Order: sequence, then C-alpha cells, then structure tokens
Amino acid sequence: AHAAYYFKNPISAKAHENAAACMPGGNTRTSLHAEPFPLSIISGTGKELTSADGHTYIDFLGEYSAGLLGHSNPRIEEALSKTMKSGWNFGGATLYEKKLARKVTARFSKGGMDLVRFTNSGTEANMMAIGAAIAWTGRKKILVFSSGYHGGTFIFTMAMCKWYHSKTSSTPPLNINLPHEFVAAPFNNLKETKIIIESLPKDSLAAILIEPVQGSSGCRPALPEFLTYLRETCEKLGALFIVDEVMTSRLGPSGYLETLGLRADLITLGKWIGGGMSFGAFGGRGDIMEMFDPARSTKGLMHAGTFNNNVFSMSAGIVALDIYNEQKLKEFNARGDRMKAGITKVLFDTGIYSQEHAEYLKDVREIDSFEDDVRLYTGNDEIVNLPKVLISSRGTMLNLRFTSPQAGAWHNLYYHYMLANGMYLASRGYTPMNLEISDEDVDRFVS
Ligand code: PMP
Repeated sequence: AHAAYYFKNPISAKAHENAAACMPGGNTRTSLHAEPFPLSIISGTGKELTSADGHTYIDFLGEYSAGLLGHSNPRIEEALSKTMKSGWNFGGATLYEKKLARKVTARFSKGGMDLVRFTNSGTEANMMAIGAAIAWTGRKKILVFSSGYHGGTFIFTMAMCKWYHSKTSSTPPLNINLPHEFVAAPFNNLKETKIIIESLPKDSLAAILIEPVQGSSGCRPALPEFLTYLRETCEKLGALFIVDEVMTSRLGPSGYLETLGLRADLITLGKWIGGGMSFGAFGGRGDIMEMFDPARSTKGLMHAGTFNNNVFSMSAGIVALDIYNEQKLKEFNARGDRMKAGITKVLFDTGIYSQEHAEYLKDVREIDSFEDDVRLYTGNDEIVNLPKVLISSRGTMLNLRFTSPQAGAWHNLYYHYMLANGMYLASRGYTPMNLEISDEDVDRFVS
C-alpha cells in the first residue's frame, strides 16, 4: 500500500521530506502524522479537499470537527472579506466579540453558560477553566479520566491511571500535562472512581473535568449515571463540575449537556464555533465568571491574550452559529447514525460480528484502548472474545477501531484503502464529517 501511495503522491512525499529538515516529524500537529507521510492539502471546496498532487477527496475528517461547515463556505467567506476590508489587529475591544458572546451564551445557557470569555483554542479554554476552578475554590486537585483529551497539553491515557497500571504492564507514553495536580480515574467506572474520590484529602478537590463523550480516545459516551454521580459529588465537596464540550457542542441544540439534562459550573467550547478560524471559549456560572471582571475591587482574575478577540474568529463565529441551526443539527446527527447503521450491517453481513457479539455489544459499558491493546467491559466484566472491529459513536462523532493483534497495521491499511478510494479521514479512524456530505456520500463510505 505504501509503494502505491508514494507513486501516487510524489509532491506530498517530497514536501514532507523537506519539511522534516525544519520541523520534527515534518509537520506541526501530531494528530496529522500518518505513515509513511501525510498528504499536503492545497485547497478545499464544499465537501472536498484537493492535495498538492492534484487528487480530490471527500473530506470525512472535517478538521477534527472544527470544519463542520465544509470548505470555503460562501457565508463565512463573505463575513471574512467584509472584516478584512476594515482592517484587523486593533488592540481594542470590538463589536464582533460582543455579538458573538451574546449568541454563545444564548445558545449554551441551558447547560449553564451564563457568561463567556474567548480564547484561541480549546486547549487554552480548558487551561482557563482549570485556573478559574483553582482560584474559586482555593484548592489544587483536578480529577480527570483515563484516555481523556482536553488539548495538546492535557492527555490522560490509560497508562497514567493507577487503575489501569494494576492490569497492564504497558509503558506510559510521554505526555505534557499542565498544570500538574491531576488525579486520574477510570472513565465510566463508577466503583473505582468513587474509591479514588473518597481517598482524596479533605477540601483538596478543585474540580472534575470531563468530556461527556470522549472524542480523541474513540467517541466513547460517558454513562448518564456516571455523569450524574460526578455532578452530585462536585456539589457535595464544593468542587466545580467542568464539562469539556469542545467536541460535543454540536450534538445538541444547546450542546450535549442539555440533551443529558445536566448543568455544568464551567463549560469549555472550541472547534466549529469559530467558523473554521482559531477558536476557544470558556464560561459558566455568573458568580464564578465574574472573577474575570477587571472592574471588581479585587481587580479580577487575569485573562489576557493578544488574539482572544481577533476579528476573524469573532466574525466567522457569528455566522457559524446561524448556519448550524437546529434543523441542520438534526440532519447532521442523523447522517452519523446512518453511517453507524450501515457499517454495523456490513460487519454482520461479513460475519465479523457474530450473534454472541450482538448480545454483549448491546450493553457495552466501557471500551478502553491503548495502542494495540483494546479492552471491552460490560458492567465490570471484561469481555475476552472481541470482534475484530468496534464502532463507537454519538451522532457524527463516530470512530471505527480495530481490536485484533496488529490493530495498528489494520488501521494503517484501512486509512490507505479509504484514501485510495477518494475518502479522507483521520489516520486513527475518526470520521466527524462536514455538513456538505450527503447521505449518498455516507453510503459510498460504507460500501
Ligand atoms: N477538548 C477536546 C474534547 C478536544 O477534542 C480538543 C481538540 N481535539 C480540545 C479540547 C483542544 O482543542 P484545540 O485543538 O482547539 O486546542
């Protein structure tokens, strides 16, 4: 597969080789690393991407969900051109940020977003939310979950987790985790999480930080009773419940929290809400967020950032929130469900899923994976007879993963097979799609 790939993409191959002389790994985002080299993309229109080698692909990656609107959306383009004509980098407050803040709080208020502030990325939004929790509670510990991802500086693989260590001898990978007073608990494992929380020193927990559907680790929804327990625990202990909706905000009209009927103390946002520009936001309960008001007698908690209110992200965001309305949201999530149903059918038809799999897949509580090591649980029981492929999803957050020995090799083969057939996706099997993709495109993907 690699030889054919080299042959088909000589310009990307050369560009990668040259780039590796000045960037470690030849690019600047670990998530875009692909073997033997990633394609260089030169343009995007609607649902399609074109590579430097002149090949066109249907984009099922949707920029890891930030590209939800599709490429070169004319309404975003119009907003950006208008903004460009009036100049940028004013070093001043603008009307754009005020308008976007009104729209964001109106949309996400049901999950608890009374007040908001903007950042340049989801990573920064989470840093600010953690900082706010530490300042609000005067405590330091932040509870996070195995395999959680909250940005490039926060990665909580299973190997970090005490619970996982007791079951495996895997070497922990190297990750940068800032700040450092994290306590990791096993995602969706109520019993073990309770033990960890109860063993914390009194008045030490500042916050619990969680993705309601873990995105990067393979689209794993948190169990409703797990989230409810965490929400109640925060109240009991005086800690803040921070919900990272950077990836999940597109799943419900007021984010995914609303569909769960839960309210957070703080919420973080990012991705598509910037209309494709750099974007992040954190917000939540008015009394907590008021800490950031510089007019307060305490002078407020510091939140600076040269590009926090950059006019491109702000003006594109205003339009993005209009485009992705309730109707679009419904259609989009239905498309994800169509893909899941289609792939599931193929897995049954080809005998990859047996009746036995069908029985226990109905009540899978937990999928854990670290490199080639995938573990599946119903209740607290580990399932040993795994199907060779697992799909995990909520709407268009869909991930397909291989579980067999050499899962990495299977993923690589799958990735290259899809590319060879004109479909672009994340090398790890994530397919968040974009709004321009039709049901026919989904059917083609499935076939
Ligand atoms: N939180 C979650 C749940 C994410 O999926 C991501 C990005 N994949 C981030 C935070 C970080 O966002 P950014 O890449 O904009 O820093």
